[in-house]
Amino acid sequence: MLRGSSQNPDTFFQMQEARNPYYDDCPDILQGEMDRFAEITGRQYKLYAYCGDPEAERIIITMGSSGETVHETVDYLNARGAKLGVLKVHLFRPFSLEHFIAALPATVKAVAVLDRTKEHGAVGEPLYLDVVPALVQAQAPGLRNGAAQPKVIGGRYGLSSKEFTPAMVKAAFDELDKENSKPHFTVGIIDDVTRLSLEVDSSFRVEGDHVKSAIFYGLGSDGMVGANKNSIKIISEVTGEYAQGYFVYDSKKAGSTTTSHLRFSPQPIQSVYLVDEADFVACQQWNFIGKVDVLERVKQGGTFLLNSPHGGAGTWDELPLSIQQEIIDKELKVYVIDAAKVAADAGMGRRINTVMQTCFFAIADVIPKDRAIAEIRAAIESSYGEKGRKIVEMNFAAVDAAVDHLEEMIVHDDASSDFDVEPPVPDHAPDFVKQVTGMMLAGKGDLLPVSALPVDGTWPVGTTKWEKRNLAPEIPTWIPDLCIQCNKCALVCPHAAIRVEAYDPAELEGAPDQFLSMPYKGKEFGEALYTVQVVPEDCTGCTLCAKVCPGIDKKNPERVSLMMEPHAEHVDSEKVSWDFFLDLPETDRTKMRPNVKMSQFGEPLIEFSGACSGCGETPYIKLITQLYGDRSLIANATGCSSIFGGNLPATPYTTNCEGRGPAWANSLFEDNAEFGLGFRLALDKHAETARRLVTQLADELEDGFAAEILDAPQTDEVEIFMQRTRVEGLRNMIKKIDSPAAREMEQFADYLVRKDVWIIGGDGWAYDIGSPGLDHVMASGANVNILVMDTEVYSNTGGQQSKATPLGATAKFVTGGKSVPKKDLGLIALSYGHVYVASVAFGASDSQLTRAIHEAVSYEGPSLIIANAPCIEHGYDLADSLSQMKLAVESGYWTLYRYDPRLVAKGKKPLQLDSKPQSIPLMDYFRHENRFTKLERSDAEHFHELVAAAEAEVKRKRTLFEALAVLDLPAEEMVGTITAETEAAE
Ligand code: SF4
Ligand code: SF4
Ligand code: SF4
Ligand code: MG
Repeated sequence: MLRGSSQNPDTFFQMQEARNPYYDDCPDILQGEMDRFAEITGRQYKLYAYCGDPEAERIIITMGSSGETVHETVDYLNARGAKLGVLKVHLFRPFSLEHFIAALPATVKAVAVLDRTKEHGAVGEPLYLDVVPALVQAQAPGLRNGAAQPKVIGGRYGLSSKEFTPAMVKAAFDELDKENSKPHFTVGIIDDVTRLSLEVDSSFRVEGDHVKSAIFYGLGSDGMVGANKNSIKIISEVTGEYAQGYFVYDSKKAGSTTTSHLRFSPQPIQSVYLVDEADFVACQQWNFIGKVDVLERVKQGGTFLLNSPHGGAGTWDELPLSIQQEIIDKELKVYVIDAAKVAADAGMGRRINTVMQTCFFAIADVIPKDRAIAEIRAAIESSYGEKGRKIVEMNFAAVDAAVDHLEEMIVHDDASSDFDVEPPVPDHAPDFVKQVTGMMLAGKGDLLPVSALPVDGTWPVGTTKWEKRNLAPEIPTWIPDLCIQCNKCALVCPHAAIRVEAYDPAELEGAPDQFLSMPYKGKEFGEALYTVQVVPEDCTGCTLCAKVCPGIDKKNPERVSLMMEPHAEHVDSEKVSWDFFLDLPETDRTKMRPNVKMSQFGEPLIEFSGACSGCGETPYIKLITQLYGDRSLIANATGCSSIFGGNLPATPYTTNCEGRGPAWANSLFEDNAEFGLGFRLALDKHAETARRLVTQLADELEDGFAAEILDAPQTDEVEIFMQRTRVEGLRNMIKKIDSPAAREMEQFADYLVRKDVWIIGGDGWAYDIGSPGLDHVMASGANVNILVMDTEVYSNTGGQQSKATPLGATAKFVTGGKSVPKKDLGLIALSYGHVYVASVAFGASDSQLTRAIHEAVSYEGPSLIIANAPCIEHGYDLADSLSQMKLAVESGYWTLYRYDPRLVAKGKKPLQLDSKPQSIPLMDYFRHENRFTKLERSDAEHFHELVAAAEAEVKRKRTLFEALAVLDLPAEEMVGTITAETEAAE
């Protein structure tokens, strides 16, 4: 048989109609299956389930989980005399008119149809667009038996998981009751532009007293979610009550907050929205105080548990004034525990979850304390029993100590602090940052009205600098005597949180006492001073700068030029130094050179991103922005780099002191390379227009100027600076010319300055989903630079295997170890001949990296850089990532090389191997990463088979690359290369 045939007009139409009976039969079949399901489970579903008053006059029709919230609200209001209903749509397609009408009470006079989507430009949203004609068709005899046609209005709610609460449901019912109801409305936002939103009485609640609720504010990955899931289990098993847990994660990689919302009740829990008024609130991190509004959702007279290092008597004085006042006003009972100390003393390091969980049970009054503690101990036994007695005993000790150290905080009669909660961003921040970014940073983005937001999705750049996250327990401190001014610290820093500057000694005037400097050792800047400066509130404490630092004290090798010291001891003075450093003049870009040292005097145009501490992707992007960011357009594939690169509230891409910086946009896995190619084609077209206009205006410009600006070389910073100056000159000249061409020139003049296109993303994009597009772009011959940050898994979604995952490694979907080698993207690319290809690893050779980037940019065709990128998904402390990159190269696993097509024409060998043959066994690299050793622990025999295969693969690849590296290729110019111009013309 055959399917998927190519059909022609003679039969296609009829074939579509031939299917009608199947669609017609579908609803009855599905209802039959739902009934069968009910017999087995006791849970009855209906295609269109009506709940509420059988004689309701006002109803809401909706799909999905909102149905439960509407149902809960309908029950509450009907119990107080209303006649309301909800129709929950469980079958959207094929829409069954017959079942729909059968479910609808004949008494209905007004209907609000809710849709959780927005169809720009449509008459209404999808469900609304079905309900309206369904009601019209229901006028046919025998369906609604002449019942009056109800009023129908349509509303949008809950886009992107925005909260949808009983108060919003009530607002929709109230709207239906009005004579002039809005035909289309939104609920849950404040629309001050088209004024479609409904007013919501936020004090309206339906939750009964039988529900007990709790909220926990914690850090992502602090174990809180696991502990809370465990608490839910304990409570529901002990009390037999219903329990609900919902966990809100933010999308930051490092230092993200997670909020747990828990409900317990003897009755089934229908509330599918966040807890709004909790009986119990816990704050697991002392430094959330003043940053996260942790008291916002605690009930009047509720209980608040705080992880505080200041004890029962000392904590009050450490709280900001308005928090003290809120505790008094809400009459809270406050308990404190120094969870960090209790956990550390019990030998559990920073894992405070057991301590906080025990405290919750000790004070929240959900089950008897002793019973709860017995259950926690049993859970510890079953979770950690396999890991040995020591770990179990440690956890037991933490439980006992938690009970002993839990104290009630003494609440004073009056708020007395002489300090208060600081605004989320300082007063000198730009207006948008204060009014919009600041609100979002404070967790109040829901309150922003429609008018505050950009209509086209364009956000201001450089806003991460206002978000002081203070994540680092320790930050680097600089010892100038030991510094050799290599600038490697700045190069490896994933967060651009350590900077270097060389400056005129006169600039030191007015420096704070603690500001450090030393004479600059190079000749580039004449007599100059030099400083290495940490950005204390944006450093994540990854330690890479200190690890890479070669400034070692010969007498005491423990001492290096960068020493990690406690954040708390240095943050205040380093803040003052950083502010002074920021005012130092930036290095003149014409002095920039594409090497390790000089590149770091360039301003990083991506800074303080939310990437994981120690992330191996960000240093590559940062370096590129330092060298070329002032003229780059970046097409960024979805993945980690698009999240840390463009995740709101705050954006890390920024501009330099001249206001120039990269233009950045994210596109999908499946089309990012083509998206970037589009940038190139548009730039080329605009440049072509600009050049045509210059030629057209040539006689009216200064003598010889047209030829000068058209023929100007733009290969380095000096030449680019000169061209920018010429463009300024051109702008001045055309101001005086009164012609359409001169006016048009004003729009296109900037395109006479060279611009670089960067197409960037991870291996999930380049090796897998975006692979055909990447291939297409390389084949186009277009002048683009492609950076693949190869983490060898889909890092952003939790480490699923990609075609870049190495042989022998485990990853999600390949837990038994990958049994085939990784795809060789470099080899595929260099088979074209006209593609510049480099394989790099900054921890193994930073100078090879800067050389590769420079060559890639200078090559007027497609360039591909494949960058080894250590990632938390590899399962080791990224503080060791530099040495891991070295081991990857020494073991032959990762070969450093550059393939430059230009060398062929010069009669030289185009492939240059930059790393030596394997000098250590592959296991010396593998043994430090859990992605490999995990398999060794579970199935050693299979693991060692895979390692042997991986060793063979290393040898095979090296042999192949060595053979390619000695090949002499014919020096004639390559034929058949499609240029961007010819492709655009086609
Ligand atoms: Fe940057 Fe890490 Fe050093 Fe902090 S510790 S300055 S984040 S390299
Ligand atoms: Fe100085 Fe060390 Fe930084 Fe090099 S890495 S510039 S020696 S502080
Ligand atoms: Fe974190 Fe890895 Fe993503 Fe970097 S690439 S942000 S280390 S998950
Ligand atoms: Mg990846």
